[in-house]
Amino acid sequence: MYKDLFVNTYGVPDLTFESGKGVYLYDNTGKKYLDFVAGIAVNSLGYSNEGFKNALKNQIDKLMHVSNLYQHQIGVTAAEKLKKYSGMDRVFICNSGTEAVEAAIKFARIYGKEKLGKEKFEIISAKNSFHGRTLGALTLTGQAKYQAPFVPLLPGVRHCEYNDITSLKKAITANTCAVILELMQCEGGMIEADYDYIHDVRKLCDELKILLIIDEVQTGVGRSGYLYSYQKYNLKPDIVTTAKGLGGGFPLGATLVTKKVATAITPGTHGSTFGGNLLASTAIDYVLTEVVENGILTNVKQMSKYLFEKLNQIESNLLKNIRGYGLLVGVELTIDSAIIIEKCLEKGLLIARAGTNTFRLVPPLVIKKEDVDQAIAILSEVLATYEKGDN
Ligand SMILES: *Cc1c(COP(=O)(O)O)cnc(C)c1O
Repeated sequence: MYKDLFVNTYGVPDLTFESGKGVYLYDNTGKKYLDFVAGIAVNSLGYSNEGFKNALKNQIDKLMHVSNLYQHQIGVTAAEKLKKYSGMDRVFICNSGTEAVEAAIKFARIYGKEKLGKEKFEIISAKNSFHGRTLGALTLTGQAKYQAPFVPLLPGVRHCEYNDITSLKKAITANTCAVILELMQCEGGMIEADYDYIHDVRKLCDELKILLIIDEVQTGVGRSGYLYSYQKYNLKPDIVTTAKGLGGGFPLGATLVTKKVATAITPGTHGSTFGGNLLASTAIDYVLTEVVENGILTNVKQMSKYLFEKLNQIESNLLKNIRGYGLLVGVELTIDSAIIIEKCLEKGLLIARAGTNTFRLVPPLVIKKEDVDQAIAILSEVLATYEKGDN
C-alpha cells in the first residue's frame, strides 16, 4: 500500500500509471489520459520518444557514470550546447531544480565575498515565489506555507513584492549580493513578470554591481517559445537556474553563469557526485537538440497561440482570467481549482494546480492542434457541468 510505504509528502489520487505514448498516459486499467501536466513541465518531448529512448539506451550500453573527477565527451557536448543556446558562459550540472538554486546561492555568495566585499552575502527574493524545497532554496521561496514548519532558515535572505521596483529598492541593503526572480511565478499562480519591471531590475543590479539570478527551472527549455524566457524578455542574467524540462524526464538540473561570476568559483567550492554524468549529459544533449534545432520552438509558439485562442472562446462564468505565455498557461477560476482538476482527471485530462484558484496547463512541447481541441472539449464540458450544479 502506497500510504504504508512512503513518507506522506504528496497526497496522491488512487491512480497508477503504467505507460505513455506521445502526449498520452495510460493507467493500469488501460484508461487513456491526455496529459497537460507533463510531469510538471518535465516531459518536454512527450512520452516514449523513439530517438530519446535510443540515445539513452545506447549510452547505458557504453558507460553511465564516472564521477566528476574525470571528463567525458558527452558532458562536453552537452555543456557546449547549453552555452551556445543560452548565451551564458559556464555551466554547472546537478540533479534537480532545487540543487540548481542551491548552486546559484553559493555562486552568488562566493562572488559577493570575493569580488564585492566580505559582508556582501544577502539575497533578495520575491514574495509568492517558488525556488525549491532544500533549506537554502526554501529560504528564497517567498511563501509562508512552505517555510513555517522549518524556521529558522538561511540568514541573509529578504523578500520584496513581485513586479514592484520600489519594494525591491527598499529590500536592498549595503550587504546585498544578488536578486533572484522567476519570469513567471508558476507555483505561485502563473503570474508573469512585467517587461519594464524586469528591465528596471536589471538596470538597478548593474548600478549597484549586484547579480541578477533568473530561476528558469519551470519556464526554461522551450516552454516560452524561446529556449529560455529571458531570451523572450531580451534580458541578460548573471546566473540562470534550469531543470524540469531540460532532462525530458531524466532527473537533472543546471546552473549557468557568466564569465564574470565564474571567475569567483574555484575547485573545491562546490560539487556533485552524480551531476551531469554520462546518462544525464546524453539527456541534455538530446533534449536541447530537439528543442532548438528540430522545430519545437516554432511548435510551442503556434500551439500557444492556438491554445489561448481556444481558451478565450470558452464561455463559462467560472473563468476569471487566462494568462501566461508559450505553453505556460494559467487559468484562474472564481472557485478553488481543485474540484475542476479532479473532474478533468475523471474525464481523462490531466491539469495541475497553481496557487489556489488557478490551474496550469504545461503540456509536452510536442502537442498538436487536435490535442488542444480535445483538452478544450473536456475542460468546457467539465466547467459547464459544474456550473449547472449536476456534479
Ligand atoms: C520546480 C521548481 C523548483 C524546484 O525544482 P525541483 O527539481 O523540484 O527541486 C525550483 N524553482 C522553480 C521555479 C520551480 O518551478
